[in-house]
Amino acid sequence: MMSEKKPHVAVVGGGLVGALNACFLAKRGFKVDVYEKREDIRKAEHVKGRSINLALSTRGRTALRMVGLEDEVIKNGIPMHARMIHGVDGSRQPILYGKKDQFIMSVDRRKLNELLLSAAEKNPSVTCFFEHKLVGCDFKTGEVEFITNEGKRVKNKVDLIVGNDGAFSGVRKELMKATLLDFQQQYIPHSYMELTIPPSPTNEFLMEKNYLHIWPRNEFMMIALPNLDKSFTCTLFMPFKIFSDIKTEEDLMNFFNDKFPDSIPLMGEETLKEIYMSSKPLPMVSIKCSPYHVGDKGLIMGDAAHAMVPFYGQGMNAGFEDCIVLDEILDMYQNDFSKALPAYSKTRTVDAQAICDLAMYNYIEMRKSVNSKLFLLRKKLDNLLFTIFPNSWIPLYTMVAFTRTRYHLCIERRKHQDEILTKVLWSGVFFIVGGCAFSLLKICNQKEISFHDLTDRVVELWESLKPV
Ligand code: FAD
Repeated sequence: MMSEKKPHVAVVGGGLVGALNACFLAKRGFKVDVYEKREDIRKAEHVKGRSINLALSTRGRTALRMVGLEDEVIKNGIPMHARMIHGVDGSRQPILYGKKDQFIMSVDRRKLNELLLSAAEKNPSVTCFFEHKLVGCDFKTGEVEFITNEGKRVKNKVDLIVGNDGAFSGVRKELMKATLLDFQQQYIPHSYMELTIPPSPTNEFLMEKNYLHIWPRNEFMMIALPNLDKSFTCTLFMPFKIFSDIKTEEDLMNFFNDKFPDSIPLMGEETLKEIYMSSKPLPMVSIKCSPYHVGDKGLIMGDAAHAMVPFYGQGMNAGFEDCIVLDEILDMYQNDFSKALPAYSKTRTVDAQAICDLAMYNYIEMRKSVNSKLFLLRKKLDNLLFTIFPNSWIPLYTMVAFTRTRYHLCIERRKHQDEILTKVLWSGVFFIVGGCAFSLLKICNQKEISFHDLTDRVVELWESLKPV
């Protein structure tokens, strides 16, 4: 359909996914205009916004590889091989993410966004327009309208409008008017605040650097990811209510002394007070919607289509994978948007909704389950089976973070594996109990003790073990 003329695409949003998408679309030979409402972050002194660093895993890396940027990003990242669990008593216990050679990367959000914008602009068919905020679009005609920071209205007419404009997407709002869009938005009762652990006076990391540090405290938790400047960015996730109950510096120090005592000397008491008292906890939202397209001219991707709570570290990774999926589908339909867009919606919705659910589930795993001995035993068993059957037994986290298994299949396979694991654990319990009973009966036989005597002795032993 589009073989004669170069398709012209307006990408709304020059964040992580928008900038990468521009690279993918330009590689196909499309003419791409990127419209971003903020100033060019490459020229900005300070960038307001979310998390300073992000965990990059296989899906994101694969997408970066496809546009030739993986090595550059990896060079500027820090591998994290395991979670490091911090107990209230100051103990630290590592839990591997997968096999020893598997790791996720801590990358700088701003640097990554800058690199992607520069890579997109290297292609002569990409033009970036900063300080251009979308005010409206028409999916029948392909018209898009923006307002600049000076208040000037700018119009354009394109073949395809792609909304990569984040969780509060303007393109999605327009899509809602144009089609029957199912939409679900959920704010969780928890919020987050970023704190910091600076480098040591001799410019070293103050904790083990190749870990994602976690302080799980059941109802809430803190995590820390390493930065290239040898600091750590800590994120405190807690219910709004707990944040608002901490009103004074004294409340704050009592709370930290009680819950995260080992982090105080690392952060520095004064820095902790200064940052906490001058920051506001930020909300977290999960958004599901369907379909992601309208007709042959409108599409949403990334957080605009599936914002998720950040507990699986997959928001950006899933958004980057969106770009691969669209690229593959455009290949399949030879750039015929009327066929490719519905196919994209159909393929991607089920996976994007699955990772939104997994992200919600992982909050419980990170803040609570890692404290449970049974959970840790299951995890060990999971990893043992993975070592024995690497092709047929893949733990859930490994599937999500280290493969490109479709997210909805990760959930299906996990359910199946869970059933098997439960059976294995119960068989273990029966085996141990059965073994003990058998040994006792054998001893009774040898020593000619009656069953009645034996139960008396067991009761006696039990009584003697009870605390006085
Ligand atoms: P955004 O990054 O929100 O970019 C949207 C862009 O569109 C912005 O630049 C915005 O200015 C622009 N825009 C908005 N409206 C308009 C408009 N009307 N006109 C023009 N431009 C517009 N993901 C991971 O994979 N790993 C992690 O470790 C991770 N950690 C996270 C930690 C926290 C605390 C949070 C909140 C999120 C985390 N995420 C993580 C998720 C990740 O940040 C997002 O999934 C990712 O930023 C989505 O990229 P995006 O480009 O779709 O949206």
